Amino acid sequence: MPKLLTNRKLLACGSCGWVHYAMTDDEKADLDGALVRYHLNDYEREIYEAEFRQCLRCESPTTVFRQATEADLTRASGHIVTPVLV
Ligand SMILES: [Zn+2]
Repeated sequence: MPKLLTNRKLLACGSCGWVHYAMTDDEKADLDGALVRYHLNDYEREIYEAEFRQCLRCESPTTVFRQATEADLTRASGHIVTPVLV
């Protein structure tokens, strides 16, 4: 497990089981700050925001996410765990 993910809240998608980690508000603010120079329009901004509110793999909303189990984590060990904002 990458060091970044220790003591993290890990969530699994309720539809496909893809594992995501819960991003903190501070991390989201950092990302937002890094994005300022791209001058996104409203539409692009909406897409950017939506990416953090759904499953990267199947696009299920974070409302169907559940606490990740040992089995989820074992399965996730081969792929990159993705941040979500919950
Ligand atoms: Zn999914």
